[in-house]
Amino acid sequence: MKIKYYGTAAAEGVPGMFCTCPTCQRAREAGGRNLRTRSQALVNDTLLIDFPPDTYWHVLQQGLPLPGITTLLVTHAHSDHLYPLDFEMRRAGFAHVEQNGRQHTEPLHIYASAATVRYIANADPINLTVDEAIDLHVVTPFTPFAVDGFNVTGLKADHDAKTEPLFYMIEKDGKALLYANDTGYFPEETWEYLASTKPRLDFVSLDCTGIVENYRQHHMGVQANYDTRERLQALRCTHESTQFCHHHFSHNGRLVYDEQVPLAEKNGFLVSYDGMEAVF
Ligand SMILES: [Zn+2]
Ligand SMILES: [Zn+2]
Ligand SMILES: [Zn+2]
Repeated sequence: MKIKYYGTAAAEGVPGMFCTCPTCQRAREAGGRNLRTRSQALVNDTLLIDFPPDTYWHVLQQGLPLPGITTLLVTHAHSDHLYPLDFEMRRAGFAHVEQNGRQHTEPLHIYASAATVRYIANADPINLTVDEAIDLHVVTPFTPFAVDGFNVTGLKADHDAKTEPLFYMIEKDGKALLYANDTGYFPEETWEYLASTKPRLDFVSLDCTGIVENYRQHHMGVQANYDTRERLQALRCTHESTQFCHHHFSHNGRLVYDEQVPLAEKNGFLVSYDGMEAVF
Protein backbone atom coordinates (compact mmCIF):
# COMPACT_ATOMS: atom_id res chain seq x y z
CA MET A 1 0.00 0.00 0.00
CA LYS A 2 1.18 3.53 -0.69
CA ILE A 3 0.28 6.95 0.68
CA LYS A 4 1.32 10.21 -0.93
CA TYR A 5 0.90 13.43 1.00
CA TYR A 6 0.11 16.37 -1.28
CA GLY A 7 -0.60 18.88 1.50
CA THR A 8 0.39 18.71 5.18
CA ALA A 9 -0.71 21.95 6.87
CA ALA A 10 -3.62 23.03 9.03
CA ALA A 11 -6.09 25.73 7.97
CA GLU A 12 -3.81 28.73 7.45
CA GLY A 13 -0.96 26.90 5.66
CA VAL A 14 2.70 27.24 6.64
CA PRO A 15 3.58 30.04 6.43
CA GLY A 16 0.14 31.35 7.30
CA MET A 17 -1.07 33.33 4.33
CA PHE A 18 -1.49 36.55 6.36
CA CYS A 19 0.98 35.76 9.16
CA THR A 20 4.28 37.39 10.15
CA CYS A 21 5.05 35.31 13.28
CA PRO A 22 8.65 34.07 13.76
CA THR A 23 7.72 30.50 12.75
CA CYS A 24 6.20 31.67 9.48
CA GLN A 25 9.19 33.94 8.83
CA ARG A 26 11.59 31.00 9.28
CA ALA A 27 9.44 28.83 6.99
CA ARG A 28 9.45 31.52 4.28
CA GLU A 29 13.23 31.97 4.51
CA ALA A 30 14.05 28.24 4.58
CA GLY A 31 11.58 27.24 1.82
CA GLY A 32 11.52 23.62 0.58
CA ARG A 33 9.79 21.17 2.94
CA ASN A 34 9.19 23.98 5.44
CA LEU A 35 6.43 25.28 3.15
CA ARG A 36 3.17 23.41 3.64
CA THR A 37 -0.15 23.57 1.78
CA ARG A 38 -3.49 22.43 3.22
CA SER A 39 -3.86 18.70 3.93
CA GLN A 40 -4.63 16.18 1.20
CA ALA A 41 -3.44 12.61 0.58
CA LEU A 42 -3.80 9.91 -2.05
CA VAL A 43 -3.74 6.17 -1.37
CA ASN A 44 -2.47 3.74 -4.04
CA ASP A 45 -2.80 6.50 -6.67
CA THR A 46 -6.62 6.22 -6.64
CA LEU A 47 -8.27 6.92 -3.28
CA LEU A 48 -8.25 10.63 -2.42
CA ILE A 49 -8.57 11.96 1.13
CA ASP A 50 -9.86 15.52 1.52
CA PHE A 51 -10.35 18.32 -0.98
CA PRO A 52 -8.73 21.55 0.25
CA PRO A 53 -8.56 24.85 -1.65
CA ASP A 54 -4.97 23.88 -2.60
CA THR A 55 -6.20 20.89 -4.64
CA TYR A 56 -5.67 22.70 -7.94
CA TRP A 57 -2.16 23.71 -6.86
CA HIS A 58 -1.48 20.03 -6.09
CA VAL A 59 -2.54 19.18 -9.65
CA LEU A 60 -0.24 21.86 -11.10
CA GLN A 61 2.74 21.50 -8.86
CA GLN A 62 2.78 17.80 -7.95
CA GLY A 63 0.79 16.14 -10.71
CA LEU A 64 -2.15 15.01 -8.58
CA PRO A 65 -3.98 12.79 -11.13
CA LEU A 66 -7.39 14.32 -10.47
CA PRO A 67 -9.17 13.48 -13.77
CA GLY A 68 -8.92 9.72 -13.12
CA ILE A 69 -9.98 9.85 -9.47
CA THR A 70 -13.54 8.74 -8.72
CA THR A 71 -13.45 8.22 -4.94
CA LEU A 72 -12.98 10.90 -2.28
CA LEU A 73 -13.11 10.48 1.49
CA VAL A 74 -13.73 13.73 3.40
CA THR A 75 -12.80 13.98 7.06
CA HIS A 76 -14.95 17.01 7.88
CA ALA A 77 -16.30 20.32 6.61
CA HIS A 78 -13.49 22.69 7.54
CA SER A 79 -11.98 24.81 4.78
CA ASP A 80 -8.53 23.19 4.93
CA HIS A 81 -10.15 19.82 4.09
CA LEU A 82 -13.13 20.72 1.96
CA TYR A 83 -13.60 23.43 -0.67
CA PRO A 84 -16.84 22.28 -2.32
CA LEU A 85 -17.16 25.07 -4.91
CA ASP A 86 -14.41 23.45 -6.98
CA PHE A 87 -16.57 20.33 -7.45
CA GLU A 88 -18.35 22.38 -10.11
CA MET A 89 -15.20 22.15 -12.27
CA ARG A 90 -16.05 18.48 -12.79
CA ARG A 91 -19.32 19.29 -14.57
CA ALA A 92 -19.76 18.86 -18.31
CA GLY A 93 -18.30 21.84 -20.11
CA PHE A 94 -15.83 22.54 -17.31
CA ALA A 95 -14.31 19.06 -17.63
CA HIS A 96 -14.07 16.88 -20.72
CA VAL A 97 -13.17 13.53 -19.19
CA GLU A 98 -12.44 10.59 -21.41
CA GLN A 99 -13.09 7.25 -19.74
CA ASN A 100 -13.04 3.87 -21.46
CA GLY A 101 -12.92 5.47 -24.87
CA ARG A 102 -16.03 7.59 -24.47
CA GLN A 103 -16.57 11.01 -23.10
CA HIS A 104 -18.32 10.33 -19.88
CA THR A 105 -17.98 11.64 -16.40
CA GLU A 106 -18.29 8.94 -13.79
CA PRO A 107 -19.49 10.85 -10.73
CA LEU A 108 -16.90 11.66 -8.11
CA HIS A 109 -18.14 9.47 -5.27
CA ILE A 110 -17.76 11.50 -2.07
CA TYR A 111 -17.91 9.78 1.31
CA ALA A 112 -18.36 11.80 4.52
CA SER A 113 -20.37 12.03 7.73
CA ALA A 114 -24.06 12.97 7.49
CA ALA A 115 -23.35 16.56 8.64
CA THR A 116 -20.53 17.02 6.12
CA VAL A 117 -22.64 15.56 3.32
CA ARG A 118 -25.36 18.09 4.19
CA TYR A 119 -22.78 20.86 4.08
CA ILE A 120 -21.65 19.80 0.58
CA ALA A 121 -25.23 19.44 -0.65
CA ASN A 122 -26.03 22.97 0.53
CA ALA A 123 -22.89 24.58 -0.91
CA ASP A 124 -23.92 27.67 -2.83
CA PRO A 125 -24.33 28.86 -5.46
CA ILE A 126 -24.51 25.66 -7.50
CA ASN A 127 -26.51 22.50 -7.44
CA LEU A 128 -23.51 20.22 -7.24
CA THR A 129 -25.21 17.00 -8.20
CA VAL A 130 -26.27 18.43 -11.57
CA ASP A 131 -24.77 16.49 -14.50
CA GLU A 132 -23.81 13.71 -12.10
CA ALA A 133 -20.54 15.53 -11.41
CA ILE A 134 -20.58 14.17 -7.87
CA ASP A 135 -22.46 11.57 -5.88
CA LEU A 136 -22.75 11.87 -2.10
CA HIS A 137 -22.56 8.93 0.31
CA VAL A 138 -23.07 9.09 4.08
CA VAL A 139 -20.51 7.21 6.17
CA THR A 140 -21.83 5.62 9.34
CA PRO A 141 -19.09 5.56 11.99
CA PHE A 142 -17.68 2.13 12.89
CA THR A 143 -19.37 0.50 9.87
CA PRO A 144 -16.84 -0.76 7.28
CA PHE A 145 -17.72 -0.32 3.62
CA ALA A 146 -16.12 -1.45 0.37
CA VAL A 147 -15.11 1.11 -2.22
CA ASP A 148 -12.71 1.02 -5.16
CA GLY A 149 -11.11 -2.23 -3.92
CA PHE A 150 -10.53 -0.87 -0.39
CA ASN A 151 -12.22 -1.68 2.87
CA VAL A 152 -12.83 1.67 4.61
CA THR A 153 -14.00 2.41 8.15
CA GLY A 154 -14.92 5.87 9.46
CA LEU A 155 -13.87 6.38 13.07
CA LYS A 156 -15.11 9.18 15.34
CA ALA A 157 -12.68 12.08 15.88
CA ASP A 158 -12.44 14.53 18.77
CA HIS A 159 -12.88 17.74 16.79
CA ASP A 160 -15.57 20.30 15.85
CA ALA A 161 -18.64 18.22 16.76
CA LYS A 162 -21.08 20.01 14.45
CA THR A 163 -19.20 18.62 11.42
CA GLU A 164 -19.49 15.06 12.83
CA PRO A 165 -15.78 14.66 12.08
CA LEU A 166 -14.36 11.31 11.02
CA PHE A 167 -10.94 9.87 10.37
CA TYR A 168 -10.37 6.76 8.35
CA MET A 169 -8.92 3.26 8.52
CA ILE A 170 -8.20 2.00 4.99
CA GLU A 171 -7.41 -1.66 4.31
CA LYS A 172 -6.39 -3.55 1.19
CA ASP A 173 -4.48 -6.77 0.47
CA GLY A 174 -3.71 -7.40 4.14
CA LYS A 175 -2.32 -3.89 4.76
CA ALA A 176 -3.92 -1.20 6.91
CA LEU A 177 -3.52 2.59 7.04
CA LEU A 178 -4.88 4.77 9.83
CA TYR A 179 -5.20 8.38 8.63
CA ALA A 180 -6.17 10.38 11.69
CA ASN A 181 -6.69 14.14 11.55
CA ASP A 182 -8.26 16.45 12.59
CA THR A 183 -8.60 14.90 16.00
CA GLY A 184 -7.49 15.17 19.57
CA TYR A 185 -6.61 12.05 21.54
CA PHE A 186 -9.18 9.59 20.18
CA PRO A 187 -12.66 9.47 21.81
CA GLU A 188 -13.29 6.42 24.01
CA GLU A 189 -15.88 5.11 21.51
CA THR A 190 -13.13 4.89 18.90
CA TRP A 191 -10.75 3.20 21.34
CA GLU A 192 -13.45 0.66 22.17
CA TYR A 193 -13.92 -0.09 18.47
CA LEU A 194 -10.17 -0.55 17.98
CA ALA A 195 -9.96 -2.75 21.09
CA SER A 196 -12.77 -4.99 19.88
CA THR A 197 -11.71 -5.29 16.22
CA LYS A 198 -7.93 -5.31 16.73
CA PRO A 199 -6.83 -4.16 13.27
CA ARG A 200 -3.18 -4.78 12.37
CA LEU A 201 -2.03 -1.30 11.42
CA ASP A 202 0.97 -0.85 9.14
CA PHE A 203 1.03 2.96 8.85
CA VAL A 204 -0.41 5.45 11.34
CA SER A 205 -0.69 9.13 10.37
CA LEU A 206 -1.55 11.32 13.37
CA ASP A 207 -2.72 14.93 13.76
CA CYS A 208 0.20 16.96 15.16
CA THR A 209 -1.21 20.46 14.81
CA GLY A 210 0.32 21.66 18.10
CA ILE A 211 3.72 19.94 17.73
CA VAL A 212 5.53 20.94 20.97
CA GLU A 213 2.43 22.70 22.32
CA ASN A 214 0.52 20.32 24.56
CA TYR A 215 -2.62 19.94 22.41
CA ARG A 216 -4.78 16.99 23.39
CA GLN A 217 -8.37 18.02 22.67
CA HIS A 218 -9.60 18.79 19.13
CA HIS A 219 -6.00 18.50 17.87
CA MET A 220 -2.81 16.86 19.12
CA GLY A 221 0.81 17.70 19.83
CA VAL A 222 3.73 15.26 19.97
CA GLN A 223 2.96 14.05 23.52
CA ALA A 224 -0.61 13.07 22.59
CA ASN A 225 0.84 11.33 19.50
CA TYR A 226 3.22 9.34 21.74
CA ASP A 227 0.34 8.41 24.06
CA THR A 228 -1.76 7.30 21.06
CA ARG A 229 1.08 5.09 19.81
CA GLU A 230 1.50 3.57 23.28
CA ARG A 231 -2.20 2.71 23.57
CA LEU A 232 -2.33 1.24 20.04
CA GLN A 233 0.68 -0.90 20.95
CA ALA A 234 -0.92 -1.98 24.23
CA LEU A 235 -4.04 -3.02 22.30
CA ARG A 236 -1.81 -4.99 19.86
CA CYS A 237 -3.11 -2.98 16.90
CA THR A 238 0.49 -2.51 15.73
CA HIS A 239 3.52 -4.69 15.00
CA GLU A 240 7.28 -4.16 15.10
CA SER A 241 7.35 -2.57 11.61
CA THR A 242 4.37 -0.24 12.03
CA GLN A 243 5.35 3.27 10.94
CA PHE A 244 4.08 6.37 12.76
CA CYS A 245 3.97 9.77 11.11
CA HIS A 246 3.25 13.27 12.49
CA HIS A 247 0.95 15.14 10.11
CA HIS A 248 -1.24 18.29 9.77
CA PHE A 249 0.91 21.12 11.14
CA SER A 250 0.21 24.67 12.26
CA HIS A 251 2.59 27.59 12.81
CA ASN A 252 1.09 27.65 16.32
CA GLY A 253 3.16 24.51 17.00
CA ARG A 254 6.19 26.82 16.66
CA LEU A 255 8.52 24.41 14.79
CA VAL A 256 9.13 24.31 11.05
CA TYR A 257 9.90 21.05 9.23
CA ASP A 258 13.70 21.29 9.63
CA GLU A 259 13.23 21.68 13.40
CA GLN A 260 10.58 18.94 13.68
CA VAL A 261 12.71 16.21 12.08
CA PRO A 262 15.40 15.83 14.81
CA LEU A 263 12.68 15.62 17.49
CA ALA A 264 10.69 13.07 15.49
CA GLU A 265 13.72 10.92 14.61
CA LYS A 266 14.68 10.73 18.29
CA ASN A 267 11.17 9.49 19.10
CA GLY A 268 10.60 7.08 16.22
CA PHE A 269 8.20 9.19 14.14
CA LEU A 270 8.26 10.31 10.54
CA VAL A 271 7.31 13.90 9.67
CA SER A 272 5.02 14.42 6.69
CA TYR A 273 5.89 17.02 4.06
CA ASP A 274 4.23 18.08 0.82
CA GLY A 275 5.15 15.46 -1.80
CA MET A 276 6.18 12.72 0.67
CA GLU A 277 5.45 9.12 -0.31
CA ALA A 278 5.47 6.12 2.00
CA VAL A 279 5.14 2.49 0.94
CA PHE A 280 4.26 -0.17 3.48
ZN1 LIG B 1 -7.46 20.72 9.54
ZN1 LIG C 1 2.60 32.36 11.65
ZN1 LIG D 1 -10.75 20.87 11.28
